Amino acid sequence: MEQNIRGKVVVITGASSGLGEATARLLSRLGAKLVLGARREERLLALAHELGLGDDAVVRTDVVRREEVKQLVDHAVKLHGRIDVMLNNAGLMPSSLLERLHIDEWDSMIDVNIKGVLYGIAAALPHMIRQKSGHIINVSSVAGHKVGPGGTVYAATKHAVRAISEGLRQEVKPHNIRTTIISPGAVATELTHTITDPDVAKGMSKVYEKAIPADSFARTVAFAMSQPEDVDINEILFRPTSQDY
Ligand code: NDP
Repeated sequence: MEQNIRGKVVVITGASSGLGEATARLLSRLGAKLVLGARREERLLALAHELGLGDDAVVRTDVVRREEVKQLVDHAVKLHGRIDVMLNNAGLMPSSLLERLHIDEWDSMIDVNIKGVLYGIAAALPHMIRQKSGHIINVSSVAGHKVGPGGTVYAATKHAVRAISEGLRQEVKPHNIRTTIISPGAVATELTHTITDPDVAKGMSKVYEKAIPADSFARTVAFAMSQPEDVDINEILFRPTSQDY
């Protein structure tokens, strides 16, 4: 596994907590060169220092601002000469029933979960096309496969991530670029902290009683990355063994 990960330049959005942070830890151990983005710069810097990386491994990035996502990726290329993997991981899940009209939360999920992923693709693609190699990994969800009450807009954004990733997969074949969708079930992170609807929060806390640790996700990223260059792992769906939904 290590030999196809060591030395690869990996950009991770949403690296300040949860799945992104766990992935940074594992890939760092496996010898990848990391550039970490998120809004909470102090958490990124603490993680970078813990992993023995310099301050230049961190770029404060709000993925709803396309120029900031471009700066994150361009910084990685300037620092390391290339980008091998773009992990579009940043996301939010302020779920609620549509009738509650939390329209600002719908907007932020659409901005972060869909447009943020598109901006990540836009930032990485020109470099990967020039290099004639690269790997774009987008994070969907079980909610990218199933819709449930209270999770309608979140599920819509995660279905969109899968549609975008599948279109991307077909379009980038001529450029020797790999694409992977990773769809986790309940994983213990800060994701549920964004839920403001008390009824949905209650239901979700039951689901998350079964949550598994974030390194479960990190291992799927490492698995997809570590394949030989002619093997393209397009989709991974995983859940806690005890999760029904
Ligand atoms: P966390 O809340 O722990 O982490 C979310 C990350 O996204 C944080 O690093 C946060 O950083 C970042 N983020 C949020 N908004 C922005 C923004 N505007 N710009 C840049 N970064 C942003 O949750 P997870 O680790 O669980 O979430 C990661 C991904 O996994 C999401 O896409 C989520 O939908 C998906 N997922 C998670 C599951 C789970 O059960 N945990 C299940 C299925 C999918 P900061 O606030 O510092 O900007």
